[in-house]
Amino acid sequence: MVIIVGAGPIGLATAIELQRKGISSKIIERGSLVNSIFHYPKDMTFFSTSERLEIGEVPFISHNPKPTRREALEYYRRAAESYNLDVHLYEEVQAIDGEDEQFLVKTDHGQYAASKVVVATGFYDIARLMNIPGEELDKVRHYYDEAHAYAWQDVLVIGGGNSAVDAALETYRAHANVTLAVRDGHIKDTVKYWVKPDIENRIKNNEITGYFNTEVQEIKPDEVVLKTPDGIKTIPNDFVLAMTGYQPNFELMTRFGIALTDDSKRMPVYDDKTLETNRQGLYVAGVVCGGMDTNSLFIENTRIHAEHISNDISRKLATGQKK
Ligand code: FAD
Repeated sequence: MVIIVGAGPIGLATAIELQRKGISSKIIERGSLVNSIFHYPKDMTFFSTSERLEIGEVPFISHNPKPTRREALEYYRRAAESYNLDVHLYEEVQAIDGEDEQFLVKTDHGQYAASKVVVATGFYDIARLMNIPGEELDKVRHYYDEAHAYAWQDVLVIGGGNSAVDAALETYRAHANVTLAVRDGHIKDTVKYWVKPDIENRIKNNEITGYFNTEVQEIKPDEVVLKTPDGIKTIPNDFVLAMTGYQPNFELMTRFGIALTDDSKRMPVYDDKTLETNRQGLYVAGVVCGGMDTNSLFIENTRIHAEHISNDISRKLATGQKK
């Protein structure tokens, strides 16, 4: 039995590939199925086309050029059901004891014996904080949901990537008074190509106020303080949407005995070909593999991990290790 930690797209893909090789697995997930996608902004559109998000050769047909969050939720539910995957939801893995072939996976509900363990825990559970005064105020959100709540409010959106741009445009169109603060001198090149001109034109027309090369210095109950190239600016504020990114749970990985690189990326240490970590019999899969570099790994380019891991486990079984 292989235990997979996390029912994101890549945890599901790994369970499917193992099943195709006759190896049984159980997925343990702390939230809902594809919990990260469930918590994306309600009206989010993926940058990938639907076929690039497919797993287990289950067709993903979208009604739009790029699939929506809602379509993806339906798709991954269907994919999991069509392979009849064994998924435990709302159960959190807290520790992995034992060793290769004799792991004991401990959760808040119980414990499970496993021959191998795959950690596919993603990076969306922990927001990257700015560590500035006022960040703890209730009006500061690191996860954006939908626009309506911000109508007629003074909203500061922080960040220059897809999440910040989507939040700025949606809240602007719901009649918020939007200011966008970007640390760099421009909107990121990774912003969806059909969205980038939209935000740039809104800023050019002063429909959204853009501050570039700007850091947020302090958040107060009714104002925010920005450090801009033209000096300090204090502007009225009702809500802050801090779209400053997310990071993997490094404490959890360390607790699982996974070594991290000691550069700024803090990537888990694993073999490129098999995804096996420094801890024998324990694998990593999906976007958690990128460490702090959360912009280079996606569903698109980590689906292949499922194949590499299942090939390695299957090979080890064939050479005498137990299922
Ligand atoms: P996740 O989907 O994050 O799954 C990890 C799972 O592990 C979660 O469900 C989590 O609840 C669970 N978990 C964590 N800790 C535990 C624990 N201790 N015990 C049990 N379960 C645990 N990628 C693309 O390819 N195309 C796109 O268009 C795209 N758009 C994106 C848009 C946004 C807004 C974001 C944030 C990301 C986007 N990505 C996209 C990246 C990619 O979708 C996600 O990062 C994807 O969900 C990664 O899949 P995963 O299975 O590796 O991790």
